[in-house]
Amino acid sequence: MRDKPLTILGIETSCDETAASVVRGRIPGPGEILSNIVFSQTEAHAPYGGVVPEIASRAHLEILDGIIERALGEAKITLPELDGIAVTAGPGLIGGVMVGLTTAKGLALAAGKPLIAVNHLMGHALTARLTHGVEFPFLLLLVSGGHCQLVGVGGTDDFRLYGSTIDDAVGEAFDKTAKILGLPYPGGPAVEEAARSGNPKAYDLPRPLLFRNSRGRDGADFSFSGLKTALRQLAQDQSVSVPDASASFQAAVIDILCDRSRFAMDLFRADFPDANTLVVAGGVAANQAIGAALARLCEAEDFILRVPPPRLCTDNAAMIAWAGVERLAAGAGGDDLAISPRARWPLALGRHTPPGAAP
Ligand code: AMP
Ligand code: MG
Repeated sequence: MRDKPLTILGIETSCDETAASVVRGRIPGPGEILSNIVFSQTEAHAPYGGVVPEIASRAHLEILDGIIERALGEAKITLPELDGIAVTAGPGLIGGVMVGLTTAKGLALAAGKPLIAVNHLMGHALTARLTHGVEFPFLLLLVSGGHCQLVGVGGTDDFRLYGSTIDDAVGEAFDKTAKILGLPYPGGPAVEEAARSGNPKAYDLPRPLLFRNSRGRDGADFSFSGLKTALRQLAQDQSVSVPDASASFQAAVIDILCDRSRFAMDLFRADFPDANTLVVAGGVAANQAIGAALARLCEAEDFILRVPPPRLCTDNAAMIAWAGVERLAAGAGGDDLAISPRARWPLALGRHTPPGAAP
């Protein structure tokens, strides 16, 4: 099974991207992306400054069939030629997940192909194998609009959670900061752009939970809500400089991400003494200042940094198709068509989740 490349259709509808992709490959990768169609609903949600679940699920319903047709067409692959259909079954906005999962079930049933219900976070986690063929184990920093986690990845069923956010996700913090400063949605790229001409030392913003800070805590958990509150107070002053506030915010985020990652590297080394790869995934990985800081950290800590290209860091279906390749190649077979969508579906339960115990 491992020698034969697998061709998988992936479907992703868990947030505000409607996406379908065909990927062909064998483990450990890299795989070949035959098509990668992503329709981003950014414009529909922009007036609200964030994703509105009802608008998202309706939009997925309206365009998903067409997106799948395009993905198959561009890949020049027909349904009978597929080895399986992989779809995000959670975690995410339940209405959107239902649209994708129901569509995938229909296709799997009609074509007589295995259905592979994929954890969206596993898709992000394994992307560096699709793009770079990164071998297990590796340390994953997942930084997106909905998640902020440090995970030791030992295999497709071995995820060890070293730390996660106790309040906001880091992308959410960027989005809220943009809103506070009057910058457009989505906030990440806008804050990064404004920060380019700002002074990162202009405002002294807090770095919650920082280990070297006397009030910090042992471990690799994150917190961003105190930073957001400080920024809101700062913005009440009419004379605040938007570039300086953006640069100061981004500098605080960089300090938090680097400090927590450094701590997680120690935990990871204790679990996997011979491994030294840090993979960064999620939309925030597109931030160049964050990438440069993580590159410096990896240099100092003797880690190799692997960051998939931005279009594969943000939500996409190629990563879901690839997770399908991994699952089928591992001999896991397809899932029961009765499987239900899951709004919550943690990748790892705790620091020492044994292999196979992740839900
Ligand atoms: P995702 O949840 O993976 O689809 O990624 C979307 C999130 O990534 C949003 O919260 C964006 O604000 C954030 N994001 C995208 N580009 C950047 C960037 N250049 N800097 C910081 N955050 C970003
Ligand atoms: Mg998204």
